[in-house]
Amino acid sequence: MFTAETVIALRAIVAEREWDQFHSPENLAKSISIEAGELLECFQWSPEFDQTRVEEELADVVTYCIHLAGRLGVDLDEIVMRKLEKTRAKYPVEHSRGSSAKYTELPNDGAP
Ligand SMILES: [Mg+2]
Repeated sequence: MFTAETVIALRAIVAEREWDQFHSPENLAKSISIEAGELLECFQWSPEFDQTRVEEELADVVTYCIHLAGRLGVDLDEIVMRKLEKTRAKYPVEHSRGSSAKYTELPNDGAP
């Protein structure tokens, strides 16, 4: 889990380098996707993977997520918990336990 100290350090590195000018929501969203691709690349040809490389790419994804949340002025804990409530509704335990099926394939699709 990351802490406020991590967020402060991330903001500092951006401020010191005046990178904020490049951190539009669009650019940050693209960067998340690009870094997610680099993370996926770690597993491209084999289930074996380099733990250090995976950690670095995961850190890149999370870093851009933190920057985008900051740029949008949203609290990551809040939006994740809000989304979690929706996920709970879409995937009732009684229909989704042990299943990887998409909610639309479950007996109850979570519709109110
Ligand atoms: Mg990377």
